[in-house]
Amino acid sequence: MSSKVLDVFLNENLAELKANGLYNEIEPVQGPNGPIIDINGKKLINLSSNNYLGLATDERLKKVAKEAVDTHGVGAGAVRTINGTLNLHIELEKKLAEFKGTEAVISYQSGFNCNMAAISAVMDKNDAILSDELNHASIIDGCRLSKAKIIRFGHSDMDDLRKKAKEAVDSGLYNKIMVITDGVFSMDGDIAKLPEIVEIAEEFDLITYVDDAHGSGVLGKGAGTVKHFGLQDKVDFQMGTLSKAIGVIGGYVAGKANLIEWLKVRSRPFLFSTAVSPADAVASRRAVEILMESTELHDKLWENGNYLKAGLKQLGFNIGNSETPITPCIIGEEKAAQEFSRRLLEAGVYAKSIVFPTVPKGTGRVRNMPTAAHTKEMLDQAIQAYEKVGKEMGLI
Ligand code: PMP
Repeated sequence: MSSKVLDVFLNENLAELKANGLYNEIEPVQGPNGPIIDINGKKLINLSSNNYLGLATDERLKKVAKEAVDTHGVGAGAVRTINGTLNLHIELEKKLAEFKGTEAVISYQSGFNCNMAAISAVMDKNDAILSDELNHASIIDGCRLSKAKIIRFGHSDMDDLRKKAKEAVDSGLYNKIMVITDGVFSMDGDIAKLPEIVEIAEEFDLITYVDDAHGSGVLGKGAGTVKHFGLQDKVDFQMGTLSKAIGVIGGYVAGKANLIEWLKVRSRPFLFSTAVSPADAVASRRAVEILMESTELHDKLWENGNYLKAGLKQLGFNIGNSETPITPCIIGEEKAAQEFSRRLLEAGVYAKSIVFPTVPKGTGRVRNMPTAAHTKEMLDQAIQAYEKVGKEMGLI
């Protein structure tokens, strides 16, 4: 017999989300996640993927992944500390360390659990974490898990960060204090003010943690936000994901050898959960090699991002303050953003609406993620669809 309390809880809350336009529909994609995707038999221009460089369907990655299935099978077999550390995991970590310019790297099964793992392995109830108010959900959850005092500072507000860092230090309440930020904020496409953050961190001896899920492959000629600012020696944790620009699955922290050594003995998802499959590990490594060999995909991504931004701006849309290829189109009211996205879908463009609680209330948007794999023709078609729907809804 199922629980009545649970049924009431679920039914009431689901109904409320739907009534308030806060319910996200999930459409299954048939076939690969490329610049054109098939949803319900309809071929759509895909502007909602984090596959920034098109590597998720790259032939070079597919080839090594298939070979790894033949040589190593489909699963790692055990958690890393028992006998699930394959040579392929070690080779991936070495390549990532080279890519990031750090002494060492530890890899995890996803970016999300990497943040949960790494933050909580280092911070505890006697510590404090200064966290940008727009940081990703996985950072927030990692901070909560650590039981450290969470002190939010205004988004990229360096005066607020300095003030709160000083208060935290002066209080004498905390053993360690960390400042943590996204490198690139995925909902707006703006870049963290890392030079100022590092300066404040030096002044107050803060531990620095950058989640570069959206900066890797995109900034610093591919090596990420920290490299973009030339701050490799000044950031303690360079966290990244292998699921976005790298095109596969997994997460990692790049840093000094003693940090990585500590995470290997203390971070629970590393100790108690099986690592990514052989195919994932080799495909990720191949992707990193490709980024290190050439900036071709990176350059194409930026060219496409700039093209789409210019087109939408010219039509009169509010594309916010993005400094990266991420192109938000801010509509405002949640239901209007969802309606806009629905109509774009009818017009052949898949650009997902993002609403509260992912972004603040009243800033509902359609977020566009152009990639290196889009052609100019695809982007032109998307801009035309925006014009049509924008006029229909009286927004431009
Ligand atoms: N951090 C940020 C900033 C992200 O945007 C995401 C993914 N949305 C993650 C971490 C989690 O990464 P993954 O998808 O690899 O779990």
